[in-house]
Amino acid sequence: MNGRIIGRFAPSPTGPLHFGSLIAALGSWLSARATGGRWHLRIDDLDPDRSIAAMTNTIQVQLEAFGLTWDGPVLYQSERGDAYAAALDRLKASGAVYRCTCTRREIGAGARYGPLGAIYAGTCRGGPTHPERAAALRLRLPAGRHEIADRIQGTWSTDADRIGDVIVRRRNGVTGYHLATTVDDAFLGVTDIVRGSDLLPAAVIQNELQRQLDLPAPAWAHLPVMMTPDGTDKLSKQTGAQAVDPAHDPVTPLVDAWCFLGQTAPPETPDTPAEFLAWALPRWEETRIPPGERLVAGGPGGGLRREGA
Ligand code: GLU
Ligand code: ZN
Repeated sequence: MNGRIIGRFAPSPTGPLHFGSLIAALGSWLSARATGGRWHLRIDDLDPDRSIAAMTNTIQVQLEAFGLTWDGPVLYQSERGDAYAAALDRLKASGAVYRCTCTRREIGAGARYGPLGAIYAGTCRGGPTHPERAAALRLRLPAGRHEIADRIQGTWSTDADRIGDVIVRRRNGVTGYHLATTVDDAFLGVTDIVRGSDLLPAAVIQNELQRQLDLPAPAWAHLPVMMTPDGTDKLSKQTGAQAVDPAHDPVTPLVDAWCFLGQTAPPETPDTPAEFLAWALPRWEETRIPPGERLVAGGPGGGLRREGA
């Protein structure tokens, strides 16, 4: 690691921050701030069906209460349509994407599952099977081995046929997550993508998009993720994680997240987040972070399971 890291935290506004998202926020904040670098907040509010408008404010209030301050204006993905359209035009022009008219149901029936869920079998690669339908756009993922060098998880690789061709624009016109995050990370000048390890397989696609769009390739550092109490699932809003409540006690969850990331607890409980973060910054050691258990999507239904299980 050399130079100043530009990092980001990119929550989806589907609920308040919970302990799992606090780990990602704190880990990426520390990795950037420990180098004197910048840290951006991006709100991943692309999906109108899942985004809850009030949560964009709730999340910002929570981050501020934890002392996790960001630089510059908040970037809202819902306002980035022009940038995504320009990137899509480029992918279309180079033949990197193709029209797919398959429905979710058609794809789901008999699908194999990989680390990102149901694998699209490439049915429309040679042309859409139902040209009369509205089409999604999919990225043609080059066949063969794809490798990600991750500072925490080590080298991780997968075959393209375990991932498949993913959607970069949905049938309803909404930009796909991988394209949006790739365009926005470049726009913000992000040098290091620090986030939960459930997104490590997604790096394969984002890396490919960076290449296809001639964007810089940021470094990857995927943090261990918090598990549900029964150990089968990633702790998330969907699996019932409790919101963290910094208005009540901002210090305890911060210190817990710090310890979860393999760092040594402070000798005395700090009084405020600011006091804790000032103490923590010069002591942050990324090499102490345990890789943890990485979770992958399992069988039908797409639930997460421990990799290798
Ligand atoms: N918005 C995504 C999420 O909440 C994270 C995107 C990213 O960090 O690349 O899971
Ligand atoms: Zn198709």
